[in-house]
Amino acid sequence: MSDYLIKKYAGLTPYVPGEQPRDRVFIKLNTNESPFPPSPGVAAAVEKEAGNLALYSDPECTDLRAALAAKLGVKAENLLMTNGSDEILYFAFSAFADRERPLVFPDVTYGFYKVLAGLIGVPYTEMPTDETLAVRPEDYAGGRRTVVLANPNAPTGLSLPLSTIGDIVKNNDGVVIVDEAYIAFGGESALPLVEKYDNLIVTRTFSKSRSMAGARLGFAVANEALIRDMNALKYAQNPYNVNRMTAAAGIAAIREDGYYLGNCARIRETREKTAAALTELGFTVLPSDTNFLFIKRHGLDGAGYYAALRDKGILVRHFDTARLKSHVRVTIGTSGQMTRFLEATKEIIKEKEV
Ligand code: PMP
Repeated sequence: MSDYLIKKYAGLTPYVPGEQPRDRVFIKLNTNESPFPPSPGVAAAVEKEAGNLALYSDPECTDLRAALAAKLGVKAENLLMTNGSDEILYFAFSAFADRERPLVFPDVTYGFYKVLAGLIGVPYTEMPTDETLAVRPEDYAGGRRTVVLANPNAPTGLSLPLSTIGDIVKNNDGVVIVDEAYIAFGGESALPLVEKYDNLIVTRTFSKSRSMAGARLGFAVANEALIRDMNALKYAQNPYNVNRMTAAAGIAAIREDGYYLGNCARIRETREKTAAALTELGFTVLPSDTNFLFIKRHGLDGAGYYAALRDKGILVRHFDTARLKSHVRVTIGTSGQMTRFLEATKEIIKEKEV
C-alpha cells in the first residue's frame, strides 16, 4: 500500500480470480471457461473490425443490441451491453443499493458480490444457505432490499425454479438482480418475467456458453426505466465500455448461435457422464445446472485434492472458506479432458489410499 491510498480503500479485499498460469500447460478446469473456441465468424468479424480501431466504439451498441433484441424477443430499450457481466453488477449495485436498500445475497455464491459491495460501500447481508448449500428462498422475500441471486448459483451449480424467482421478485420492494451467467447449461430463465415486473434485472454473459471470456461482453435485460438508470451510471463512468472488436464478435456469435447451442448440449452431456463417474468413485456431487461440478469425497480434503490434481497438470478451483473447503469446483471441459481428469482422480485416490 502506498502512502497515498485514501483511507476508504485501506481495508479493501479484492476478488481473487482463478489462476491463469503461463509457466506450464495445464488442463484448465478452474475458471468455467468454454473448452471450445469461438465460432468461425467471430474471428473474421474481429479481424475486419480491427481496421476501424482509430474510431471510438458506438456507446449505444446499436447494432449489437438490435441483433440481441431480435434473438431474445425483447426491445433494444430493454438491453444494456457491458464489459463482462461483472460491470452490470457494478452499475446495478451503485444505482439501486444503499443504506436504505442494502444488498442481500446467499453466504455461498459468486464471491464478487461481496467484493463489489465493499468497493461501493453498500451494506450487505449474507443469508445462510441450508445444510445442502441450497438457497432458502424465504430469506429473500419481503422488505426493501436489493436482492442478488445467481441462478444457477456458483460455485454450487444448484438452481431455483422460475416460480420461486417470480415470488421473490413479486414480494420485494427493491430491485432483484438475477445473475444468469450459467443459464445456457440448465435451470429456468427469468427473462419472461422482465415484462411483468419493473424491479427485475436479468444479467447474462458471453463469457461461458459463447466462448468469449476474453472478449468481455455481458448484458442486462430489464424494464426501460432500470436500463436508463444503469445507463446514466455507465455514461458517468465509461461510455465506451464495449470496444469495437468485442461488439463485432458479439454480433457474429449471435448469428452463429446454433454452434454454441451444440457446444452447450455437449457440455451438459459430458457433465452428466462425469458426475456419474465421480459418484461411482465415492464422491458427493451436487446436482448441477451449470458448466461445472461442485464435489467432495470422504477422506480427501479439498486443498489436498486440488494440489494433487495441480501436480498432475490439472487445474480446478478450491475455496478456502469454512463451508466450502472440503469441496473443489471442476469446470466441464471436453470429454477428452474429463477422461484425463477422472484418470488423475483415480490415481490420487489410490496414492492417498482413501
Ligand atoms: N456471475 C457469475 C455467477 C460468475 O461466475 C461470473 C464469472 N466469474 C460472472 C458473473 C462474471 O462473468 P463475466 O464478467 O465474465 O461476464
